[in-house]
Amino acid sequence: MKIDLHTHSNVSDGTEAPGELIRSAAKAGLDVVALTDHDSTDGWAEASVAALEHGVALVPGMEISCRTETGISVHLLSYLHDPAHPGLLEEITKSKDARLTRAQRMVSLLAEDYPLSWDDVIHHVAPGATVGRPHIADALVAAGAVADRTEAFTAILSSHSRYFVQHYAPEPAFAVELVRAAGGVPVFAHPVASARGRVVGERTYREMVDAGLLGLEVEHRDNPEEGREFLRRFAAENNLFMTGSSDYHGTGKVNLLGENLTRPEVLARIEELGRGSKVVRA
Ligand code: AMP
Ligand code: FE
Ligand code: FE
Ligand code: ZN
Repeated sequence: MKIDLHTHSNVSDGTEAPGELIRSAAKAGLDVVALTDHDSTDGWAEASVAALEHGVALVPGMEISCRTETGISVHLLSYLHDPAHPGLLEEITKSKDARLTRAQRMVSLLAEDYPLSWDDVIHHVAPGATVGRPHIADALVAAGAVADRTEAFTAILSSHSRYFVQHYAPEPAFAVELVRAAGGVPVFAHPVASARGRVVGERTYREMVDAGLLGLEVEHRDNPEEGREFLRRFAAENNLFMTGSSDYHGTGKVNLLGENLTRPEVLARIEELGRGSKVVRA
């Protein structure tokens, strides 16, 4: 059984429509794939139809951007939550709206040094999609400033860059509570991905566990091996399950579907625990 529990479509910053993503998952030989767009569940309906058509099981999910009070970015995966839960919906709507003004601010700053306008960025965002730095990266590529998204991030868009602007994001423990309230299964995404920026210490893990965290994404290309040792120990001590996944973004990242996998027993546990929606399978 090949199970990949973290992918993005063009409902956020992936490059394929949800249906295309499911077709790619089938082609890659996956049996189960989770769609986890940033701060949005808008791709679930199209992905569900495609899942039945292509014989791939779909785990409906989402990746919530969070930030600690000390300013450290945390990504929280949610599986099988109720997409209409008012509290959770209100929070992701706030983030989505804030992402839009934040991207506009970043483009104003960038426009001082690069041939870039807001229209150039919007051109790369599917209607209604969650706007992120990858879309600004696409516009920089189109303007000839960089070769690809990866270069855009290292050279221009990193969190240390002078063009970087933050957006509203809930605190991690609060997001965990909301996911549980919505019947979902919260999993800490790429927790030790230090190349992306500062990572949280054990105190934040404890707050998230106290709020109802259920799993850690251990097998992810951005988690360095030393960090994985810590994650395995922490998971064992706190009765958390461990997942593995690709964080596929279509052609937007080098990550390939199925490059890391989750064990069937773990998926079974997620299915037992998730009460807000169901795995879609033919
Ligand atoms: P944002 O959510 O707008 O702050 O943008 C962060 C997103 O950019 C992450 O979810 C990643 O998918 C993407 N990203 C980060 N680093 C890179 C990179 N080096 N190449 C391509 N995409 C990246
Ligand atoms: Fe992303
Ligand atoms: Fe992430
Ligand atoms: Zn992701």
